[in-house]
Amino acid sequence: MNGLVPPRKVAFYIRVSTERQAKVEEGSLKNQEQMLRAELDRRNAQHKDWGTFVESYVDEGISGKTTNRPAFQRLMQDIELGRIDTVMFTELSRLSRSLKDFLNIFEFAQRYTCDLVCLKTEIDTTSPYQSLVTKILMVFAEFEREMTSRRTALNAYERSKRGLANGGAAPPGYRRDKKRKGYLIVDPVESRIVQEIFSMYLKEQSIKQTVEQIQEHYHEPLGRNITRSKVYTILTNKAYVGVREIYRRDEANRQEVAAVWEPIIDRQTFDQVQVALQKNRDRYNRHLDRGRFAYLFSGLIRCGNCGQRLQGKSAWSSSNRHRYHYYSHRRSCPKGGIVRIDAALIHRLVLGWLRDIMNDGERFERLRQEGVKRVNHRIEELQEALTQIDQQQTFLVEQIDTRINELARSKEDAIRCSIEASITRLASRQEELRQERLYAEHEVGQLEALATSPRLFANYQKQIRKTLGLVDQDGHAENAKTALKDLLAALTLNPEDIKIALSGLVNRRALSSTLLVVAPPDRLELPT
Ligand SMILES: [Zn+2]
Repeated sequence: MNGLVPPRKVAFYIRVSTERQAKVEEGSLKNQEQMLRAELDRRNAQHKDWGTFVESYVDEGISGKTTNRPAFQRLMQDIELGRIDTVMFTELSRLSRSLKDFLNIFEFAQRYTCDLVCLKTEIDTTSPYQSLVTKILMVFAEFEREMTSRRTALNAYERSKRGLANGGAAPPGYRRDKKRKGYLIVDPVESRIVQEIFSMYLKEQSIKQTVEQIQEHYHEPLGRNITRSKVYTILTNKAYVGVREIYRRDEANRQEVAAVWEPIIDRQTFDQVQVALQKNRDRYNRHLDRGRFAYLFSGLIRCGNCGQRLQGKSAWSSSNRHRYHYYSHRRSCPKGGIVRIDAALIHRLVLGWLRDIMNDGERFERLRQEGVKRVNHRIEELQEALTQIDQQQTFLVEQIDTRINELARSKEDAIRCSIEASITRLASRQEELRQERLYAEHEVGQLEALATSPRLFANYQKQIRKTLGLVDQDGHAENAKTALKDLLAALTLNPEDIKIALSGLVNRRALSSTLLVVAPPDRLELPT
C-alpha cells in the first residue's frame, strides 16, 4: 500500500439477541469483539495502516429481524456523517436476518462508500467481485430460511389437522403425554379446578368474583396463582370440550377438528359460559361508549392562526341530554382563529383523508411527489445558506489575516491587546459558522436520502394501515394516539381548511421539522 491512502475508519457491529446468548461462549459479546479485533490486527499486520478502530456499536437483547435497533441506527448515522467507512461483524445474521433489510443496508453502505467485512461467511466488500458473491449468498440464505420455516409451518398444520396439540405448554387441567407427541392427559387435580372455574362463573357471572372464590378455596398452584386473564383464557378455550382449534387468532381461517384428548367440560356448560361472557362484553362496551370519548388529536392539533395546541374538552348541551366533544383553545384565540371545533367532525375528516390516500395509490403518489418537491426545495434553501456561510468564512479568514498582520506591526501593549481580543471574537464566529455548516450539510444529506428513498411510499401506506387499525379497535385509544403522533408531523386547523402533514419516516428524529405532505381536505364545514 502506498502511504497516501488514509487508514480506514473501522467500526465493529456487535449484536446479541437474547440474554442467554449474551452469556454463552460462542456468540457472546466479548467473544464477538475479540474475534473482530483479532481480524483487524491481522489485516493491519498484512497491510500497514489498513484501518483504525473507531467504535464498537453494540445492540443487546435485540432481534436481527428488525433494523429498529439503537446502536445499529447510530451506526447508520455515523456512516452518513463519514465517521465510519468500514463495518466489521462476525456473521451476517448479526447485521440482518432478512434479505430485504440486508440489501438495503448493502445499498446504503455503497452510497456512502462504506465497506462491509464479515468474518464467518467470508463476505468482504473491500474486494470488488465479492459484492456480487455477497448478493448471491444472501439470496441463498433467505431461500434456505424460508424453506425451513415453511416446512415447519406445514408440519405443524398437518399435525393440528389430525387433532394433535402443538408444541407449547398444555392448557391448565392437562399435562403433555410424554410417550405420545401431541397427546394430552387429564391432570386430576387441575382439571377439577378448571371445572370449578366454569361452574363458578356461571353462578357468579363475574370473572372478578370467580377469581376470589377460586383463590379462597384452592391452594394448589393453579388456584393460588389464578388471575382474571387466566380465568378468561380458560373460559374461552375450546380444548376443554375436546376441540382442536387451528388458526385460533385468525378469524377468516379458523378451523376446528376433534381433538385427540378427552374433554373435561361438557358442551352445554361451555356454551352457556360463552353466552354469559358475551353479555358482559356488551355491557362493558356500552359503558365505555358512554363514559369515554377518545380525543385522538389532543395536543396534536394546533390553531393555524396563533399556534396554540388545542385540547379535547366536553360539555353538556343546554337540554342536558347530549354531551358535546370538541377541541378547543384554552380560552379564546388571540388571532381570530377557530376557537373550538367538533371533535367527531375532525376525526371524520382526518381519518377519512388517511383512509382515502391509503386506498388510492395514485393520489398518494401525487402527494409523495409533492413532498419530494418540498424536500428538494428545502435542499436548495440549505445549499443557498451553505454558500453564504462559505462567503462569510472567506471574509472572516481575510479579517483574521489582516488582524494578524496588524499585530505583527504594532508595538504598543494596549493596541496589541485589543487586536488579540478582536481575533478571538472572529475565531469564535468562525467556529460557530463551522458548526452551522456541519449541521446544514448533515440535513442536506438526510433530505437527499429521503427524497430518493423508494421505500418511503410503501412505508407510509404500511404505517397508515397499522395506525388506522389501532384507531378502529375498541379500547386501544392510547395506542392509537401514540401511533397518530408518530404518523402526523402536524395537524393545523385554519379558518379555511385543515392541513395534515405526515412526518418523515426515514429518519424521524432529524426530519420531525420537515412537512412532507401537506394536503387540505375538502373545505371544512363548521358546525352551527
Ligand atoms: Zn388560535
